[in-house]
Parts: sequence; structure tokens; C-alpha cells
Amino acid sequence: MIRILDKSTADKIAAGEVVERPLSVVKELVENSIDAGAKKIAVEIKNGGKSYIRVTDDGCGIAADECEKAFMRHATSKIINAEDLNSISTLGFRGEALASIAAISRTELLTKTKESKTGSKLIIEGGQIIENTPVGCPDGTTMVIRDLFFNTPARLKFMRADSAESSSVIEFVTDIALAYPDIRIQMINNDKILFATNGRGNRGQTIATLTSSILADKLIPFIYEEEGITVEGYVSGPGESRSSRKNQVFFVNGRVIDSKVIEKGINRAYSDRLFEGRFPICYLFITVSPERMDVNIHPNKRQVRFYDEDAIINTVRKGIITALDSEEAVPTIKEKA
Ligand code: ADP
Ligand code: MG
Repeated sequence: MIRILDKSTADKIAAGEVVERPLSVVKELVENSIDAGAKKIAVEIKNGGKSYIRVTDDGCGIAADECEKAFMRHATSKIINAEDLNSISTLGFRGEALASIAAISRTELLTKTKESKTGSKLIIEGGQIIENTPVGCPDGTTMVIRDLFFNTPARLKFMRADSAESSSVIEFVTDIALAYPDIRIQMINNDKILFATNGRGNRGQTIATLTSSILADKLIPFIYEEEGITVEGYVSGPGESRSSRKNQVFFVNGRVIDSKVIEKGINRAYSDRLFEGRFPICYLFITVSPERMDVNIHPNKRQVRFYDEDAIINTVRKGIITALDSEEAVPTIKEKA
């Protein structure tokens, strides 16, 4: 007999695609804060995010009569129809995150828009609305997610040690802070402030705050544009390489992504400068018109498809080569002087 699954079962299954671990929750919430125009975002986790995740922003907030709707599947303010999928300029668009997160946790929302005098407090447990009341709160949105996977024991078992879960969260928030130097981003782990960026928009300085100023000093900054693709980069010279790609972080239109295509561009730029098996440090921030790529590949949105891969490879390669050449030219000029 074929049955249609009830809503709560369907929600739990769908949640599995979006929410795999604490990192997925933090990612979705932080992306929502950025889409909400926040200038300040605080991320707090406890026990690797398993027992407690809080994301607070000073963004646009959610109107009282829309709070419950925000938690419905396929509820989004960011696209209207399938056509909009061709030119996505927000980080979110699937309208699934909040529904998924709320289905498998105890979720608390506190939110207020600037226009409204009072805010709203919503409590949802395992997808059930427990409370929806007006409260006083600052402009913006706070999401608290407690006891992730409390009602899906199989998933709970798959979580790794607190330290492993927290380091992937911290790595992601660090990447986001790099991608958005004009947003003040604070990371708190088990009651300890790990970092706070100043939001003044200086990317070189943000890299120094988040990595180490010693490392940041060694990176060569550049901006290169060709074929409508802009690459802003901070890359190491041949003297400073690593044995893995761990120090290569890519952003496309503000999204942290994994990309073999970008890696290819990097490899080509360094091919006669580094031995095989050595990898340069590369922070690359790529801006390309949203029509020239597809971000709707995987629910985690870490993959993108570039329609013109060669243009990306070439722009990355040429940008880096220009930077390396100019750097290498410096000593020669000095010698001549
Ligand atoms: P999506 O981001 O794909 O639209 P979500 O489930 O993540 O879907 O969020 C649903 C809706 O709730 C968003 O479209 C937005 O209107 C609203 N929302 C979620 N988080 C925030 C936030 N931090 N500030 C303001 N609005 C938010
Ligand atoms: Mg979202």
C-alpha cells in the first residue's frame, strides 16, 4: 500500500538533507542574517553546537504576522518563481532551512523589525509551535537552537566529538568573517570569545585578525578583472607553501565554496613555481554575475557550476600570476636602485 507520509515524518526526512550537523545549522542561520542585511552577527555554540547554538543579528527582523510562516517548508521572501533561480543574489533561496532546523530541535526565535514597537517570541519543538507571544527585544533576530536531533536518535549518534563539531563551526564562521569584512562577526565557543572582527571592511586586516599577522604579512594582495569576472586575492609566494589545500579558501559572490575549477586556476598559476604536492595559501574572493553560474546544485550550496569554466580558470590564473610577477619584480627594482 502506498501512503503519503504525515507532515512531521516528511519534515524530518527533508531536514536530513539540509541539517547534517551543527555546522549546517550555523551556516543556514548565519546566511539568513547576512541576507537580512545585518551589520553585526554573533555566533555562540556550546558542546560543539549539539546542546546549544545561538545566532544573533541586527538585521531587518521578521514581522510578527510572518514568524510562523518563516518556519514553513518552501517559505521564502527571497525568490518568487523558478525564473528567479537564474539570478540568485541572496545566500538563501530554498525556503527550507528554518522548517528543517525546527523539525529536529528545540528552536527559539526572538525577532523585531525596526517598524514594529514590540517583537515576537516563538518556541518550536520538533516542528510543533509551543509558544508565539509578543515580547520586548532589540531590532534584529536571535535564533537559539537547543538539543539538535533530540527526536532523531539515529542522527544524534552520527555526530562527532564536541571538539570536531566545534572546529568545523569555527572554521566556517572564520570563512564568513573573511568574506564579509564589513560585518562585525563574533564567535563564542563554550562561553569564550574566540574572535571578533571590527566590521571596518579592510580585508587584509581581517585576514590578520583571523589567521595570524605573521602569515598575513606574507600574503600578496591583488585585484584582477577580466571578462566581467573580478578576483580579489591574498596569495602566498612560492616561498610559503603547505602540504595540503587546507589554507585555500574560495568565495564566490560571498558564498564559501569548494571548487575544482578554481583549484585548476591556482595550479596553473603556480605550476612552474611550486613542486607537485605543495600548495600555496590562497584566499580568493570572486565576483561574477549570478547568471553565469548555478548555485542550485546541492542543498548545502557549497557547490556551484560555472557555465564558462575556462573563463574562471583563466582569470584566477592570470590574476595570481600578475600578483606573483609584481612581487618577484620588487627585489630587482631594489637591487637596481
Ligand atoms: P531562505 O533563507 O531560503 O529564504 P529560510 O528557511 O532560511 O529560507 O528562512 C525563511 C524566511 O525567514 C526567509 O526567507 C526570511 O524572510 C526569514 N528569515 C529567516 N532568518 C531571518 C533573519 N535572521 N532575519 C530576517 N528574516 C529572516
Ligand atoms: Mg535561509
